[in-house]
Amino acid sequence: MNLDAAKAALSHLDLDVNPASIKAKSRDFFWYSPVLKARLDHVTADFVVTPRTEAEVIEVLKVCHAHDVPVTTRGTGTGNYGQAMPLAGGCVMHLHKMNRIKDIQPGRVIVEPGALLKDIDEACAPHQELRMYSSTWATATIGGFVAGGSGGVGSVRWGGLRDLGNIIRLRVVTMEAEPRVLDFTGEEIHRISHAYGTNGIITELEMPLAPAYDWVQIFVTLDDFAAANRMAYDLAAEDGILIKLATVFEAPIAQDYFQRVAPHVGTGQAVVALMVAPHAMGGFLTFLARHPAQIIYRSDSTKWDREPGQIFEYCWNHTTLRAMKVDTSITYLQVGYGSDDPLPLVEEVRARFSPEVLQHVEVTRSGGRVAMGGLSLVKFTTEDRLDEIIRQHEEMGALIFNPHRYTLEEGGRQTVDLRQLEFKREADPKGLLNPGKMIAWDDPDWAYDRMYAWPGLRKAA
Ligand code: FAD
Repeated sequence: MNLDAAKAALSHLDLDVNPASIKAKSRDFFWYSPVLKARLDHVTADFVVTPRTEAEVIEVLKVCHAHDVPVTTRGTGTGNYGQAMPLAGGCVMHLHKMNRIKDIQPGRVIVEPGALLKDIDEACAPHQELRMYSSTWATATIGGFVAGGSGGVGSVRWGGLRDLGNIIRLRVVTMEAEPRVLDFTGEEIHRISHAYGTNGIITELEMPLAPAYDWVQIFVTLDDFAAANRMAYDLAAEDGILIKLATVFEAPIAQDYFQRVAPHVGTGQAVVALMVAPHAMGGFLTFLARHPAQIIYRSDSTKWDREPGQIFEYCWNHTTLRAMKVDTSITYLQVGYGSDDPLPLVEEVRARFSPEVLQHVEVTRSGGRVAMGGLSLVKFTTEDRLDEIIRQHEEMGALIFNPHRYTLEEGGRQTVDLRQLEFKREADPKGLLNPGKMIAWDDPDWAYDRMYAWPGLRKAA
């Protein structure tokens, strides 16, 4: 890699060579995982470049290709799997200034990748909004969400990001001697979505919109976790009640980690967080009266001395963040309980592991059915114990998306995504895009019998 030549060729762009800010822009939320923290803490790029247009992205990719410099793309670096960490050093291409919202039409919006989820929603208000967003809505980019995220607030109605129809079109730049610009729709979208920027750079997105509402944000308590889970599941299955979020917390998650909520929750009670459309409140209250549940907060009428803020910022991976602020030994697991009667499996897992593993369940939708996933809180002791907890989850039939691994495959279903691999062969022949994140590219025969350690990972100084 010829860093000096690349930096010289890019010096007319917004180039950052200050070691402290390079280090800051080389990090994401990998430290949620003690396993990744131990391995990636020293990782840093050699320079950061901030393109403002697609033409500048093309220039960066062309120059870095010519000088064999790896390029790791960054939205705002809120990923938890070390997705945006430049394992081989080189260039971090920071896209947060490519943030134009180009066009809003009924049912769709066209944006640049660095637009924040929040800014897109604000631009589309008051009648439309994104179908789904990560709970990092206020800080994350749409490009990072599509390339590194999976779903979130809204997934209880719309499923995951990779479900058909949830991305309309992606415009992609390749990393070749002469970069190409390609528009992907249909099956082609799967080449590049959730590929961590390993096989192309998204420079424009067309995303579907949903009708916007002033969602009523609600906390409900129930005495029993299983009843809370059942209530959330049944609510999501009520076709006539429009909700955007249903999250269940086993005790004592709310009591110990949600400071503003805790005074309103009894010992041992489970808590459910909900977002309900205002016009669905009548149906919702009728539904709730059939369950042993009590509303402790609703954003349209309750006044607490200390307001809780946005309810979705207690959910998805914000739950882990809140827990880690109180107890630094906490980490988490991303669990799939499926859509085939998931409640007994959640209960079985809870019974086996609580309180070492506490259940935080997100209700979603998959294949037209209500599904459940977990971002379970884990009291971390050792890596061996963590691996054993994962092994037992899998033995019980739960799917683990291991957040203690930095490769696409290990953080996914431990299988090679041929569409992504084949497109990488075509679009990144030198293997310079976010290197170290795709095992299939580096070691096609890898057996997935232990944690993959990419040989190219830069050593700590
Ligand atoms: P980054 O972290 O900067 O990038 C993510 C990945 O995408 C990286 O691999 C990067 O190289 C790649 N990338 C970025 N831009 C491009 C581009 N234009 N082209 C190609 N590749 C690109 N995730 C969820 O899915 N749902 C959640 O609800 C959720 N909640 C979270 C809560 C907290 C508190 C935290 C810390 C994280 C959470 N996450 C969640 C993870 C993360 O916040 C989201 O996935 C987020 O949308 C990522 O956006 P970003 O701009 O920070 O992306």
